[in-house]
Amino acid sequence: MVIFIYSRKSKWTGRGESVENQIAMCRDYIQRNIDGAGESDIIEYEDEGYSGKNTNRPRFQEMMQEIRNGGCNYLVCYKLDRLGRNLADLANLVETLNKLNVSFISIKEQFDTSTPIGKAMLYFAGVLAQMEREQIAERVRDNMVMLARKGRWLGGNTPLGFTAESEERVSVNGKSKKSFCLAVDETELQTVRFIFKEYLEKQSLMGIVKYFLSHGIRTKRGNEYTTTAVRDILANPVYCTADQEGYQYFWDLGCQVCMEQEEADGTCGLIAYAKTSSARYKNKSNSPEKWIVARGRHPGVISGQDFSKTQNLLAENSPKGEGWRKPQNPVALLSGILQCSCGHLMRPKNYSSKQVTEAGERKFSYLCPYKAMTHGEKCAMPNIQGNTLDSLVCREVLRYTEENSSICRILKKGIGQAKETKGSKATAESFLVQEIQNRKKEMQNLVSVLAKSGGEGAFVRQIGQEIQNLDKECALLEQERAKLREEGESIQGSGQQAELLFPQISSFCNLFNALTVSEQREYLRMVLDKVVWDGEAAHMFINGCH
Ligand SMILES: [Zn+2]
Repeated sequence: MVIFIYSRKSKWTGRGESVENQIAMCRDYIQRNIDGAGESDIIEYEDEGYSGKNTNRPRFQEMMQEIRNGGCNYLVCYKLDRLGRNLADLANLVETLNKLNVSFISIKEQFDTSTPIGKAMLYFAGVLAQMEREQIAERVRDNMVMLARKGRWLGGNTPLGFTAESEERVSVNGKSKKSFCLAVDETELQTVRFIFKEYLEKQSLMGIVKYFLSHGIRTKRGNEYTTTAVRDILANPVYCTADQEGYQYFWDLGCQVCMEQEEADGTCGLIAYAKTSSARYKNKSNSPEKWIVARGRHPGVISGQDFSKTQNLLAENSPKGEGWRKPQNPVALLSGILQCSCGHLMRPKNYSSKQVTEAGERKFSYLCPYKAMTHGEKCAMPNIQGNTLDSLVCREVLRYTEENSSICRILKKGIGQAKETKGSKATAESFLVQEIQNRKKEMQNLVSVLAKSGGEGAFVRQIGQEIQNLDKECALLEQERAKLREEGESIQGSGQQAELLFPQISSFCNLFNALTVSEQREYLRMVLDKVVWDGEAAHMFINGCH
């Protein structure tokens, strides 16, 4: 068993328990609450002089690395605020620990993820953190949509065929950034036209690469062309004219198209934002639903019809045979979660006719791809109506946040228990106080007896012994009383924490309904391990509740 203790103290404010004290309390807790824990199992990590806001605390980072390497079973700290500055930070941390099977204990708040109430709180803390991340992402997107509507290019790699002319500074996610206007570079644009024309005629990326290599034509950044480089150009929405077919193509792809359909009049090209996730994962492509597509102010290079044709050809000719950028079903919430009972993930498939539900969503069903591949020989699972299943699963998941859901009941029970236990602890304490007083009285009596005795040897020794015994008993009782009081306080702490979570839980349903489809999908993936369809019923497996 390996137990980490983390402690932090800010040097600058000088506030808070000393590091030594925090560690001593942690050690004491471990000894009393973790079965079989010995001194040699404990490793201490301390940071002094760092604030909670700074997650670059060196020992903290070291410890997290060690935890990620799997070198830890328990993480114990004195108080939650030792670890991070807000609920979202903490929830992220606790989520990480949970994934790595590390139990997390904070003594002051009685936050212990090895108990049911600790788990329930963890569940909601995780949900809230996710909501916060999504709200931030939403703000960034709103900001981008605003800029997209104005046709601004936000920099990054300038596409072949254009130069970026700096215009003015705009604010993106609170940071001042230059915005650009794309100006035509006619020589380069000829290369772009050549690429599209060649590909539409011959459908060979390699043919184009070979041509460029033999003619010494290099990329904008001076590198030799590769098939990937050519394909990236062919797939770049910036070359697509903002006409009706172009509009329709990105609309069908599920992108967020930020213009009126009438604006797609063929006078300009398109711009697309958020095709890759920002900052940290530069090369990770976002799914088309996340793309923000708008009308730019530069001329389009090829018609929407040809652009869409090109994309379909690229998808068909993809080397892996996979549906490369093949439009996904934009409404199916359970892709990636729903399993056929034969073990294969089920896929959404649109109804062949353009049927829509009452809510205006395209109707679809989930089917087992294994059944499709084997023509029903290895699996004969009937399809399931997708829109209905999605809404049933959502309703079920949301029930967890309703007033009488099992998790709310656990929380409520926790609050009740906390009160009850505090009451019983108080009763026990007053009993102890009584016992202590009784003994003190007795001791006083004995002392006065002793005074009156006149000092006869054996008698004095006997009484002295008795007083000593009573004194020892009193000390033990006092210890017990201190322990009771401390436990009562921390129980109250955990009850208060559960009470704090309630209002946030009750507004959760509204928050969920306001999320976009892809956000809802991400959320469901966080909560649900899987949903298994057995032909008659769909069984939900909630994460962490097996
Ligand atoms: Zn199947």
